[in-house]
Amino acid sequence: MKSHDVRQSFVDFFAERGHRHVPSAPLVPHGDPTLLFTNAGMVQFKGYFLGEETPPSPRAVTVQKCLRVSGKHNDLENVGPSPRHHTFFEMLGNFSFGDYFKEEAIRFGWELVSGVWGLVPEHLSATVFHEDDEAYELWRRISGLPEARIHRCGAADNFWAMGDTGPCGPCSEIFVDVHPDRPEVGWEEGTESGRYLEIWNLVFMQFDRDAAGTLHPLPKPSVDTGAGLERVAAVLQGVESNYDTDLFGPILAAAAKLAGTGYGADAEDDVSLRVVADHLRAVTFLLADGVIPGNEGRGYVLRRILRRAVRHGMKLGFDEPFLHRLVPVVGEVLGAAYPELAATREASRATVAAEEEKFLSTVASGARQVQEEIESLREEGGSVLPGKVAFTLYDTYGLPLEVLREIAEEERFTVDEEGFEAEMAARREQSRAAAGRGLDLVALKRALGGAGELPATDFAGYDRHELDAARVERLAALAGPEGATRAASLTAGSAGVAVLDRTVFYAEGGGEVGDTGTIAWDGGRARVTDTRKDPAGTVFHFVEVEEGTLAPGAEVRLAVDAERRLAIERNHTATHLLHAALREVLGEGVRQAGSLVAPDRLRFDFTFPRPLAPEVLREVEERVNRRALAATPTAIEVRPYREALAAGAMALFGEKYGDTVRTVEVPGFSLELCGGCHVRNTGEIGLFRIAGERGIASGVRRIEAVTGEAAYRRVRETEERLDEVAAAAGAPPERAAGEVEALRGKLAETEADLSRLRIRLVAGGLVAGGAGAGAGADEGASEVEGVKVLAREVPAAPPAELRNLVDVLRNKLGSGVVVLGSRDDGKVTLLAAVTPDLAGRLSAGLLVKKLAPLVGGGGGGRPDFAQAGGREPDKLPDALAAVGDAVREQLGG
Ligand code: ATP
Ligand code: MG
Repeated sequence: MKSHDVRQSFVDFFAERGHRHVPSAPLVPHGDPTLLFTNAGMVQFKGYFLGEETPPSPRAVTVQKCLRVSGKHNDLENVGPSPRHHTFFEMLGNFSFGDYFKEEAIRFGWELVSGVWGLVPEHLSATVFHEDDEAYELWRRISGLPEARIHRCGAADNFWAMGDTGPCGPCSEIFVDVHPDRPEVGWEEGTESGRYLEIWNLVFMQFDRDAAGTLHPLPKPSVDTGAGLERVAAVLQGVESNYDTDLFGPILAAAAKLAGTGYGADAEDDVSLRVVADHLRAVTFLLADGVIPGNEGRGYVLRRILRRAVRHGMKLGFDEPFLHRLVPVVGEVLGAAYPELAATREASRATVAAEEEKFLSTVASGARQVQEEIESLREEGGSVLPGKVAFTLYDTYGLPLEVLREIAEEERFTVDEEGFEAEMAARREQSRAAAGRGLDLVALKRALGGAGELPATDFAGYDRHELDAARVERLAALAGPEGATRAASLTAGSAGVAVLDRTVFYAEGGGEVGDTGTIAWDGGRARVTDTRKDPAGTVFHFVEVEEGTLAPGAEVRLAVDAERRLAIERNHTATHLLHAALREVLGEGVRQAGSLVAPDRLRFDFTFPRPLAPEVLREVEERVNRRALAATPTAIEVRPYREALAAGAMALFGEKYGDTVRTVEVPGFSLELCGGCHVRNTGEIGLFRIAGERGIASGVRRIEAVTGEAAYRRVRETEERLDEVAAAAGAPPERAAGEVEALRGKLAETEADLSRLRIRLVAGGLVAGGAGAGAGADEGASEVEGVKVLAREVPAAPPAELRNLVDVLRNKLGSGVVVLGSRDDGKVTLLAAVTPDLAGRLSAGLLVKKLAPLVGGGGGGRPDFAQAGGREPDKLPDALAAVGDAVREQLGG
């Protein structure tokens, strides 16, 4: 059975049994700042299990992209050695939201495994939680498995909990004997060795655990299951390892071919090949879901996985970027199931290539850095690289601990790994804290009365900015950035949060900032300074009461700051036009990586491997302006998700879309899923100006732009600046550039003249007879062993001028040595030149090498010319006085 058929048979089986097929959520969980990555099928349904959201259907089936590289589930270190653990894998799952429970869950599982998939019942076993007699009896009755093959296990493996409090319950797992031909072994031994392979875990959410740890039975228990596609495929394809399935075969083969070996040829290479194949899948899927390599949070995890793959590539003998060449292979294997791979292939490939290059060069320079650290530690008598230093090398150069360890060993040093781990733990804590930002809304909602009582707020503000009758539902007082407490009223001068039954205030989302404005009621007024919402759609108005007292139940009038909102709408529609224009000009590989839509500007981040040339930027800007000038009405519609996708709408990563979605269309140009505020007609945008373009991460560019009034202001300011330049240049704007050019040319000429004059002056002063006097040009020189030597201090001058001066003097001398020194600002410059006839007898380079240390410096150069710097100006006279001896030494030697 091909892996594709495994997926299909699972979905079909449950769809036939009333389960709604829900697409995989992105790897980046939406609206869950506590979790870095989706690590199980249930993640996207958390709100249903917690009773915060209502499921559209009580049964669901999914094939979920999962990543287990952080937090509670971290299988990273297993990958490579383990034949059944991956960082990225696909989890097949069926779910009951308060619908069926243990009996059906076990029956479905058994029917699918032993019926549809045809696994031999004698090769199967099950586990149950040791206190769960109900599940035990159900297995006995439904499957007929003998008692010896139903194992009662402890809480570590067979009791699941969402967190310290909340939904939890016993689980039951299905195991397959992968070597039924061999004599039976004990349960412990068999599970340890991997002979009894866990393929499917059924979780029975039966209790609600309170803060005191007491379990309360849930009124409507639920089911959450997960089976690893890769493991099931291995079993059904009759192979020992997940890596021998069709999911990995082509990737391993391609990687091995690039490395000039074969998978299976060498055990150690095989481990590295498996790591490369596994990590490549994780990296490719993370990039497809919009994660960008970076130094913290998700981006940091992505970078680490990528570097780990490159490191194993180095073990395989790669010394230049290779991983990016394998990105398309992931698409070949998984593209049919995950269309996002095709859409992002080129961009991902470019990002991987850039990351690889950077990593390889940092490893090289990092290695040098380690050596230097070790040298200076050794001088102080040390033999251990401290954890802090090691971590800094790891952190700034991305130098892996293994590489550090190797270099240290070569130098007979050790690495303080405990200290290193401590630094690492501190860093992990930091990224957890960073991911936890935004938790305040969850806390806020709890303070306001919890999920059950606060429904989504009705938003009526797309087409209007005012609303006459809204009611205050809840209020909270704000004590600080985090502390919010439910309040019975908010008096004048206080700040708080208001939840209303309806609103025209747009809550921050989809990159668009929240609205501001006023809330008024009889006897009072409050300013709305920001508007935000939680994933369930409850809108929080951040208010400052200016007059009167605001209390729940009050009827209020709402007014959004209309000018500000209109400016936001212009920028939002312009962002869509910019996105479309970029794809037209740069190709379909361009992918939105983030955006900010504010009243005064817009920012658009997208994947692209190189800076954009000025003419490309101009072309993009022109296309957007052409659309604005065409004054096309925008078409906004609410329609079924599938229909929108079929019409070609661009969906964004990290967004969780419902069954019906809102689409924003500029007919013939742009069609996006979007919940934001837009102009009714592109003509309202007015002028669109790109204000800048730059890289913000490898493979990601950022464009900032302005529209409407801000664009007009920008043009006017540019014009004013041009006028100033013209006035300064003393020419009208159209000739100002030419005038400045001409002035610069004249200036350069004048400087050259000046420099020549200075040289003649100095040279004339040094060499008796003066400039142009011809005869006696060498009278300022002394003689050493018949060679003329001119050693003098000269006034400070630009380096080029000093070099010219040396040349002039050398020519004047005809035959001999010139040594000049000058002092400027605590620094010394020494120059030496030897005439060609003395080549072989005297070297300027050696001379400087000898003299430079006398002024606290170093340097050297060619035999005919050399230069050096020093830091002890006071010593210059001594150095010049030593020239004669130095020359004598060379001639004598
Ligand atoms: P194991 O003990 O083997 O690590 P688990 O108990 O962590 O598995 P669950 O959290 O119950 O696994 O996940 C449900 C199913 O997902 C497992 O039965 C298995 O088939 C699959 N699975 C879990 N972790 C991985 C992984 N790292 N790679 C591939 N499949 C996995
Ligand atoms: Mg596990």
